Amino acid sequence: MTLTFDAKQMAAELYDGGFRPMFIGGQWVAAQSGEVSEAYNPATGAVLATVPLAAPADIDCAVAAARQALEGPWSKFSPYERQTLLLKIADLFEENWERLSVSDTLNMGMPIMRTLANKRRVVGMLRFYAGMATALHGEVIDNSIPGEIVTFTRREPIGIVGAIIPWNAPTAASIWKIAPALATGCTVVLKPSEDAPLTPLLIAKLMQEAGVPDGVVNIVTGKGSVAGARLAEHPDVNKIVFTGSTATGQSIARAAVGNLKRVSLELGGKSPVIVCRDADIDRAVPVAAMAVFAHSGQICIAGSRLFVAREIHEEFVAKVGDFARSLRIGHGIDAETDIGPLISARQAQIVESFIASGQSEGAALVAGGTRLSGSLYDKGNFIAPTVFGDVRDEMRIAREEIFGPVISAMPFDTIEEAVERANASPYGLAAGIFTQNLGMAHKLIRRIKAGSVWVNMYHALDPAVPFGGMKMSGYGREGGIEHLHEYLETKAVWIQT
Ligand code: NAD
Repeated sequence: MTLTFDAKQMAAELYDGGFRPMFIGGQWVAAQSGEVSEAYNPATGAVLATVPLAAPADIDCAVAAARQALEGPWSKFSPYERQTLLLKIADLFEENWERLSVSDTLNMGMPIMRTLANKRRVVGMLRFYAGMATALHGEVIDNSIPGEIVTFTRREPIGIVGAIIPWNAPTAASIWKIAPALATGCTVVLKPSEDAPLTPLLIAKLMQEAGVPDGVVNIVTGKGSVAGARLAEHPDVNKIVFTGSTATGQSIARAAVGNLKRVSLELGGKSPVIVCRDADIDRAVPVAAMAVFAHSGQICIAGSRLFVAREIHEEFVAKVGDFARSLRIGHGIDAETDIGPLISARQAQIVESFIASGQSEGAALVAGGTRLSGSLYDKGNFIAPTVFGDVRDEMRIAREEIFGPVISAMPFDTIEEAVERANASPYGLAAGIFTQNLGMAHKLIRRIKAGSVWVNMYHALDPAVPFGGMKMSGYGREGGIEHLHEYLETKAVWIQT
């Protein structure tokens, strides 16, 4: 694959280690304390930039700016004007897509071909919600006394949305939260992860260029335990949309109780992939492997529990191992790279400890299992794509979210047993099924407890399709019409005529 532009040149122009202010009320500001933190390139360890380390007082300023905009100029925007604005933002994103992709690749390691390929999910999202901005409507309810009482509902913006996102897809996660807010007339205070704060600041620039009124979108950089926690508990924030780990989601839900703000949570997973005896093995192998290895396993929907019918388990797992060994591991900025680094040394240590536990609990190491060394890898956090066979359900690698490039493959004897074991997890984010039997696929689709189910494919996401989890993977949906309802209140109106 080749790039049509010079990604390395663009990378050098984008970040030079300098200070990047945050965006509050239309102003580019430092933290009131003057404190900063460094943003790194996980492939090289280089400091790309420094960003403000927001304290609770900075969050309060951002919320005040969001409130002023909500009750001021933004409330006067008609749905058509919000639609026009979203379409303008979409055009700017399209024009700047290469820069946004390079920025994401630099700050969180995802290979450039993947960040570039996310365009439809992001620009498409902006255009999808531009369309929805003029399609919001209440309904007339005709059950009251005819001719005497008129009853109808209005859909009103919920107010200030506090958005807290993880580091693994900053552009997509930002827009999946901001676009529906703009469509519904809400305002936003978004806090990116301290591990990948840079692209959301570029996004703020594009919002400003598009003419988004001051205070409608605010981007604050800071630690989760300080800035994120203040946003979650803030008495003037009306809604929190959070993507991140289940443990953080639980503490956010607790913090939100104070003013009973609405909460939606997109959390972690340990998603099952079931490969039936009749699956097309050669088509299923690369899809099942990339269900985990895409972005080095650092994706919430990673299909990390691979259940394979016993008759084909050995062949299937051997082929997944071959596939894993064929992947090119390197710096995300190189177009040939299939798999980039892990986000941090801490994350690499966590993954290594899972690999060690798999080995000590007796799983069969089929591929990978090692940290990579050599001049290309020494300054980053690179772990070889790893495949374990003969894993048992009770092993740690089969139960806990690893968030790294590790597949745990397990044989099963009957479909009943496979479904039961697939569902025997506290999580319920996603699932994959490989079979050529349509009836079997439908049976499994109904029985699997997961927010998304893919059959003979994996990973597909679309702005029009709701995405979210069941059980400990969270509640609420992003994408589709359902997301708009997360950002709207319903008011019932009664009129005596
Ligand atoms: P994380 O939970 O550590 O952090 C996510 C965000 O929450 C960051 O911005 C962080 O600063 C903030 N935060 C941390 N503590 C906080 C607190 N006490 N109050 C408020 N905010 C706080 O997650 P991560 O390491 O950035 O991302 C990895 C996790 O995210 C994985 O579990 C993964 O499965 C999950 N994830 C889920 C989805 C999904 O859509 N379901 C998508 C991507 C990632």
